[in-house]
Amino acid sequence: MGNRADVAVVGGGIVGLAFAWEAARRGKSVVLFERGGLAQGASVRNFGMVWPIGQRPGEDYQLAMRSRERWLELRDLAGIPVRECGSIHAVYEDDENAVIREFAELARTNGIACESVEPAEAAKRFPSLQTQGLKGVLSSPTELCVDPRQAIAATPAFLKEKYGVALRFGTVVTGIEMPRVTAANGETWTVEHAFVCAGADFETLFPKEFAATGIVRCKLQMMRTRPQPNGWQLGPHLAGGLTLGHYKSFEACPSLPAMKRRHAEQYPLHAKYGIHVMASQNPLGEVVIGDSHEYGPDPSPFDNLHIDELILEYLRTMLRLPDPAIAAKWHGVYAKHPTQLYCTAEPQPNCRIVTSPGGAGMTLSFGIARRWWDTFEGTHRA
Ligand SMILES: Cc1cc2nc3c(=O)[nH]c(=O)nc-3n(C[C@H](O)[C@H](O)[C@H](O)COP(=O)(O)OP(=O)(O)OC[C@H]3O[C@@H](n4cnc5c(N)ncnc54)[C@H](O)[C@@H]3O)c2cc1C
Repeated sequence: MGNRADVAVVGGGIVGLAFAWEAARRGKSVVLFERGGLAQGASVRNFGMVWPIGQRPGEDYQLAMRSRERWLELRDLAGIPVRECGSIHAVYEDDENAVIREFAELARTNGIACESVEPAEAAKRFPSLQTQGLKGVLSSPTELCVDPRQAIAATPAFLKEKYGVALRFGTVVTGIEMPRVTAANGETWTVEHAFVCAGADFETLFPKEFAATGIVRCKLQMMRTRPQPNGWQLGPHLAGGLTLGHYKSFEACPSLPAMKRRHAEQYPLHAKYGIHVMASQNPLGEVVIGDSHEYGPDPSPFDNLHIDELILEYLRTMLRLPDPAIAAKWHGVYAKHPTQLYCTAEPQPNCRIVTSPGGAGMTLSFGIARRWWDTFEGTHRA
């Protein structure tokens, strides 16, 4: 009879894990293929920030919040550490302060929990912030922190143990002709549904369909400190003024366009390299710092040290780190659709590509998979 499953998922990054989990929890038999012995793509290279505050108010924010619920479930079911740390945006210019105040005002009507905090109060609540020149802080309680290396490595084992998901790591899928999925090692599976969650690999499966989507690759440079001494805690994830120009959530703020114009004039190199600066602290006490955004079909394997300097210089204006020495540097590449929140296509009946949640895969993937299966089951029950 050969191998059979209800669902095949290609890709052991966060998108693939989300689709595999969502299918398994609905009683489907699932086989999960991953090229590497471990998934080593964007999903292990990120900050580990679950970041609803960056999503457009409304549907996108709600999608992130539904994803957030799944992260907390994963913590409870699989014992994967997920810290409810929240986030702050610390700003040092009047136009940035205007944006966060406008956002906090709009958030009330949009059902987004956040508040604008005065500098004196912020200095008490967030003692590691640079207080010199601090104009204000936007504080949000909803963001989560995971260690992506830990979460992406531990989730497949949880899926196998709890739901009997068949894991095929070290196995590249080279062909899908529904209902048949074929791997490079000759293994074949007959399935009802296939999900291609191949991240930034656009060439192995359905290259023509990928080319038609218009998605691009984006390279990001990252750094990490050693564990900070004496149990020092960053507390909430930290972002700054540049981040206000990066995420869609702030688009409705009237002061945003002028702030972005000033940023472009004052920080031309940051604009060139797509730099905005954030920091998170993982359970080991290491502070993860980034990032830059360089778009193109063939990201350079060589990192630009000047980008790292620009990131660290900006970080010093916001944060006083007890031990700022950098212990590791790396880059990651994700797929991004030019206009959509993520990209999905159906190259064959019941075979779906799901990719390119851009810089928000950790934030959105569980919600994306949950919504897809809800819609599918709703349609098929009706
Ligand atoms: C530096 C950096 C920082 C980021 N920070 C954050 C953050 O803090 N919060 C957030 O929400 N998002 C963040 N992101 C975005 C997030 O990491 C990505 O959106 C997400 O990881 C994409 O997940 P994925 O599963 O699509 O891709 P990947 O993680 O790249 O996974 C795809 C997997 O598919 C496998 N694969 C591909 N083709 C095949 C095949 N034919 N057969 C078998 N296996 C195959 C690959 O080996 C790979 O493991 C960040 C991204 C980067 C790079």
